[in-house]
Amino acid sequence: MSELLTADRIDEIGALGPASPNPAALVAELVGAVDEGRVADPDDTGYALLVAADILEQAGDLADALALATRAIAEQPDDNAYARAVRGGLLLRLDRSDEGMAELTALRPLLETDPDATYVVDELAESGHAELALEWLTGALDAILERTRTQQHASEDAQDEAAVMIYGLAQQRHDLREEQGLPHDEYDNLADRLRAASTHALDALDDGPATLLFWPKGEFDAMLVRWPALADSYPPAWEEHRANLERALVEASGMGGADLGLVTGTVDGLAAFARDTGSDPTDAETLDEYADSLDEAGVTAWPPGRNDTCWCGSGTKYKKCCLPRSRG
Ligand SMILES: [Zn+2]
Ligand SMILES: [Zn+2]
Repeated sequence: MSELLTADRIDEIGALGPASPNPAALVAELVGAVDEGRVADPDDTGYALLVAADILEQAGDLADALALATRAIAEQPDDNAYARAVRGGLLLRLDRSDEGMAELTALRPLLETDPDATYVVDELAESGHAELALEWLTGALDAILERTRTQQHASEDAQDEAAVMIYGLAQQRHDLREEQGLPHDEYDNLADRLRAASTHALDALDDGPATLLFWPKGEFDAMLVRWPALADSYPPAWEEHRANLERALVEASGMGGADLGLVTGTVDGLAAFARDTGSDPTDAETLDEYADSLDEAGVTAWPPGRNDTCWCGSGTKYKKCCLPRSRG
């Protein structure tokens, strides 16, 4: 077998996962492709191994999952924080507490610098360390708020990034405390105020881009074939379209956007809309109006829960699909 393992196929395997009648075959397919250098994009090597690790973990084979997570770290030495967090969580769940804590503690500073690093806290929370997870979230919030107070002359970019982190950490902390049955404290009130303020901020915009137009893979390819002029409005590859949407939504939520969501476009739908309205389907304005018209048919709320199915249609959990991708 010399077939290349594409990112799409990895997504698909992640979606099948342990529900598949033969999860071992899926793991073998992933690991085999890595062993034989058949991963289409070498940057997906770690991803392939982590999907295999996840299938093994869900099947109860934590030791082999750990071996694959460890290998994912070695395969991508420059970009392995997420793999290290996964490894740390597995070590904790294997009762190798000292090693697991060491791995996660090394990643803890990321909570104050990387808006996406909340996966570090997830691993703690999912390993029975909710109290420590809350302590880390509180510590990171303290540190970032203190930094924004003392660094009055921080660049606008740095301020934006701090706002994104404060928002994300406060929400994660709020939800975890709620799960633990804890009463609201000052930071929980802050989390509620931020969420409410962002809703108002968005309401105040006449037609803020609260809803983005998403083309599923097949529709995306068909759309570019049917209207080549739309190549000006979209990237050439669907993966990029998907990544752009996730990034735009992350950014909008960081700027206080709430009620964010996606509507799903179809070639037939756009053709009918353009025909009915007498407009040009390749016009950016038509695309906006088409997206607005889809609102009634149903908006996919964003973000999905971390453990819910991803919005992009991969069938994989959000935290293993577009969430980590937006970090790239
Ligand atoms: Zn609340
Ligand atoms: Zn996705």
